[in-house]
Amino acid sequence: MFNGWGFSTTTMMTDRSGIGLTSQRVRNRLVQQLREMGISSDAVLNVISSTPRHLFVDEALASRAYENNALPIGFGQTISQPFVVAAMTQVLLDTGPLDRVLEIGGGCGYQSAVLARLASQVYTVERIAELANRLRSRLHDLQIGNVRVRHGDGRLGWATHAPFDAVLVAAAAPAIPPALLEQLAPGGRAVMPVGRQGEQVLTLFRRTESGIEEIPLQRVSFVPLLENVD
Ligand code: SAH
Repeated sequence: MFNGWGFSTTTMMTDRSGIGLTSQRVRNRLVQQLREMGISSDAVLNVISSTPRHLFVDEALASRAYENNALPIGFGQTISQPFVVAAMTQVLLDTGPLDRVLEIGGGCGYQSAVLARLASQVYTVERIAELANRLRSRLHDLQIGNVRVRHGDGRLGWATHAPFDAVLVAAAAPAIPPALLEQLAPGGRAVMPVGRQGEQVLTLFRRTESGIEEIPLQRVSFVPLLENVD
């Protein structure tokens, strides 16, 4: 199928560099905005700048992919706001090694792709089968080979591959599931939005020699961490 500009739709869909509202100039504007909002890690900003977020959302929303907003990805779920993706990644990167990372709530795979560039191995768990399947094939198409995807209940973590240096939870609950803390390596960190709708606080947990340390970071708004598997 061809549009008026002479590009085939298929080409546009898989074009990593992007044109118009998905171009590098527009991405740089997003990076500048994130910098002004307090993201200071060049490593994180470089990854955001070169990760094609427009390929993680529906084609109809591609022109809005480099706005600092959450966008719908189907099944009542959203791709996280770029600022939140950057902030969660930065706090994990700033507090210790990022070799083996567990992500809960893979969704469309954008956060997984960002983590994949900074970690050796990423494990992601997603409870909606269709999203898990799409995530797997999207990362394959983008030739991202260091992310393992599992369809399941992320509240249980992924014991086979534990312990993890870092755990990133992309959905909110009143408390962090105990299995996720149990699967942290010594010195390991977890970041998760904790609290009820309207009063969620992004919280950093750290496994220290004397137990789990808990540090509240900032107010956020996430979709809920659900109990059953779809
Ligand atoms: N990082 C993702 C965020 C997606 S929104 C992105 O940028 O696309 C949060 C995701 O968490 C949703 O896809 C939702 O299906 C998933 N989720 C909610 N509860 C879950 C659970 N118990 N286990 C695994 N995934 C869960």
